[in-house]
Amino acid sequence: MKLMIDETRCKGCNLCTLVCPYKIFQEGTTPNRRGVVVPVLDRPERCTNCRLQKLYGRVLCGVCQMICPDQAIRWVDEKPYNPEKVVIEY
Ligand code: SF4
Ligand code: SF4
Repeated sequence: MKLMIDETRCKGCNLCTLVCPYKIFQEGTTPNRRGVVVPVLDRPERCTNCRLQKLYGRVLCGVCQMICPDQAIRWVDEKPYNPEKVVIEY
């Protein structure tokens, strides 16, 4: 699964940057066309959902999605990450 921020919904509140245990969401620096500074994703393949959602068949962790007031965070299907290439940092 791939982690996505829907730029048409995000308002740049940065709540997601506060909650992720892996610090995947980082404060952005450049405003988009709507003037919103959307967070950037730092190595999103480290996200528990990206790695294991398919295996468990349900959303894991998901704190970022729960706290986002604009339902801007979601996961989309894509080829699974190669687990040997994922470096986990806390
Ligand atoms: S689901 Fe959890 S680990 Fe994945 S990006 Fe959101 S807060 Fe981080
Ligand atoms: S919590 Fe949602 S609205 Fe706020 S910055 Fe993150 S993705 Fe955007």
